[in-house]
Amino acid sequence: MRSSAPIRAVFFDLDDTLCDTIGTREARARLAFECLCQTHSELDRDVLVKRALEPRDEPRSAVGVRGVLMELGLLETAAGTAALEAARYYYEPLCLFDGVRETLAELMGSYELGVITNWESEDEQRRKVEHLAIDSSFRYFIVSGSAGFEKPDLRIFEHACGLAGVESREAVFVGDRLDVDIAGARAAGMRAVWFNHWGGSLDGASPGPDAVIGRFGELPGVLARLSGEA
Ligand SMILES: [Mg+2]
Repeated sequence: MRSSAPIRAVFFDLDDTLCDTIGTREARARLAFECLCQTHSELDRDVLVKRALEPRDEPRSAVGVRGVLMELGLLETAAGTAALEAARYYYEPLCLFDGVRETLAELMGSYELGVITNWESEDEQRRKVEHLAIDSSFRYFIVSGSAGFEKPDLRIFEHACGLAGVESREAVFVGDRLDVDIAGARAAGMRAVWFNHWGGSLDGASPGPDAVIGRFGELPGVLARLSGEA
C-alpha cells in the first residue's frame, strides 16, 4: 500500500520541470555556431543549427551543439571549445513555465522546498535559478556533479531527504522524466509527481508516478491530496 504520511518536503527537477530548457535549444545553437563560423567561414550556420535540433534516440533529446561539433571533428579544437563556452552561460532566453513562480510562493508556506538536478556544474545551475529569480524559494539545492550521484540513483534522493531532515516517505519529487525523475524518486521511497507538460506517454513506466499534472498550478491540490489532507 502506498504511504499516506503527511508531506513535509517537496523537491523539484530543474530543467524542463521548472524552466523550459529545451525551448532555448535553437537560440543557444545559433549563438554557438555564430561563434564557430567566425573561425570556420566554410561552414553554414543555419545548416549546423538545423542539424543540432534534429531528434536523437529519446523523444525530446536532440543532436545538440556538442553532437554537431563531434560530427565535424571540432569538439576538441579551440574553435569548438569557444563555441560551447559562448552558449554555456547564455540564459536570456530561459523562462519559467506558467504558474511556477506563484506555485512556489504558495508552497513555501507549507513545505520545505529543494531542487535535485543532474548537471556537472553546480555553478551553472545556481546561475540559472538566479536568472529565473527563484533561488530564494529553495533551502536545498542538490546538483549531481557536487553530490557525487545522479538521478535515477536513489542515493541522491536520500541525500536530499537527509539534508532536509525528513523521511523519504514524507517527501515528494516533481519531475518531467519518468526514467530519471519518477523511477529514481520512487526507488528511494519518495512519492513522485510527473509534470507531463509535453504530452508524454505512461506506457511501460514502472513504477509509475503517484500523480500526474499537466499544469504547474495543479500541484498544491495534488500535494494536499497525497498528504491525506484533502
Ligand atoms: Mg528535467
